[in-house]
Amino acid sequence: MASLVLSSHSNCNYHLRSLLSVTRSINPTKIYAKRVTVAASSAIVGRKLRAAVIGGGPAGSSAAAALASGGVETFLIERDINNAKPCGGAIPLCMLDEFDIPMEIVDRRVSQMKVVSPSNLVVDFGKTLKPHEFIAMCRREVLDAFLRSRAERSGASVISALVTHFDVPENSDQPYTVHYAAAGRRAHLDVDVLIGADGVNSKVAKAIGAGDYSCAIAFQERIRLPEEKMKYYENMAEMYVGRDVSPDFYAWVFPKCDHVAVGTGTVCSKRDIKSFQRAIRHRARDKIEGGKVVKVEAHPIPEHPRPVRVRHRAALVGDAAGYVTKCSGEGIYFAAKSGKMCGEGIARASEGGTKMVEERDLRREYLKEWDSKYKSTFVFLDLLQRVFYGSDAAREALVELCGDEYVQKMTFDSYLYKKLAAGNPWEDAKLVANTVGSLMRCSVMGRDVLKV
Ligand SMILES: Cc1cc2nc3c(=O)[nH]c(=O)nc-3n(C[C@H](O)[C@H](O)[C@H](O)COP(=O)(O)OP(=O)(O)OC[C@H]3O[C@@H](n4cnc5c(N)ncnc54)[C@H](O)[C@@H]3O)c2cc1C
Repeated sequence: MASLVLSSHSNCNYHLRSLLSVTRSINPTKIYAKRVTVAASSAIVGRKLRAAVIGGGPAGSSAAAALASGGVETFLIERDINNAKPCGGAIPLCMLDEFDIPMEIVDRRVSQMKVVSPSNLVVDFGKTLKPHEFIAMCRREVLDAFLRSRAERSGASVISALVTHFDVPENSDQPYTVHYAAAGRRAHLDVDVLIGADGVNSKVAKAIGAGDYSCAIAFQERIRLPEEKMKYYENMAEMYVGRDVSPDFYAWVFPKCDHVAVGTGTVCSKRDIKSFQRAIRHRARDKIEGGKVVKVEAHPIPEHPRPVRVRHRAALVGDAAGYVTKCSGEGIYFAAKSGKMCGEGIARASEGGTKMVEERDLRREYLKEWDSKYKSTFVFLDLLQRVFYGSDAAREALVELCGDEYVQKMTFDSYLYKKLAAGNPWEDAKLVANTVGSLMRCSVMGRDVLKV
């Protein structure tokens, strides 16, 4: 899939090619076979704490960069370094700063957004954005390659290999053994700490008995538009809501380098995903007509955090942990942030890789920090999804509310900066009244709201 994009868009893939070429060529079956015996005491003598990060998406690369920078001997194992993760690729402004992402990684700066209701009421959602504010749109093959090369520059060894299974230690003196296959050969690696950043079908999660979560399915087509049609999407993204495009999520048209990503998702009606995709194409038909589909992709999205995210000396981050918000379906920032937080926490607890870590260190330095920072955001967005995505009447109310400038400001401040925006009590009170008013006008009070 990546090669299709690579071969067809020469200009905008210049950076992708140069990034991919940075990854060192190593012989993964030869170099890392030596065994590790976990220190019985907390000090590690004659070597550094050794960690394997499975999965080289935003979560894994950020974890590996933080671990390696913090003095831990780090291995980042990715099964496909040309992977183009199916994804809308929208990231918040604060991620560019926090992860030092250069502007050449960003395809489009979206400063206008239209939200379209089931009855095709259109609201301009970006009215309160300041001139320097935008939603960054990236292609994942570009962003992921950049973050992986950053991890490598920080000192992590990147191994291009498929992890097949693990030996999980039975006591605290034993290492985790990671078994992997590279270039048709099998090898293994013993480590003190294991990070599962291997996405929604995480093998690490299974190996440590982290339990299951429910998933949505998301479907997306990348459509190359004629130049004059692409102009409309230059800095414009669209969100469509309605039973036709998804019974419990939204559909989108997001601009990329020289094409748009058109997609939708659902949890409760996965079998019908293709008919929802036809519906979004139908709703956006005037704007995407004449476009050529250059790629079709689908992937699950976790709905909730896993029951277990840390066990013994293993931790889950990103999608493997279940960090995608309801309502917006945002997961890239949370993947990178959880990886970074976990990596930094381990580096801190191990005092720069000189001490063994234990489960309680991972809980204190990573889980506790994460939950205190983001749990309320996840709970709030879950609630919003249940209120507003339950029926077409509620979706009409949602779009009506999106026209309110105070709602727009609060939404963008929270999204772009990942901080709960400080509200104005008077405006908050008005917002509650407007919400109730919109829901009543759209005749959903009672039945739908009581379901929450
Ligand atoms: C269609 C769609 C649209 C989306 N749009 C957006 C959006 O616009 N904005 C947003 O913020 N989020 C979006 N998301 C969610 C976002 O894609 C994820 O939350 C994010 O990719 C999670 O990053 P991650 O690093 O945890 O996992 P992933 O990106 O899934 O990375 C996991 C990595 O692990 C590797 N791996 C897996 N198993 C193994 C193995 N056994 N051995 C070696 N390597 C392995 C994979 O190859 C992959 O590179 C979207 C999701 C979908 C499906």
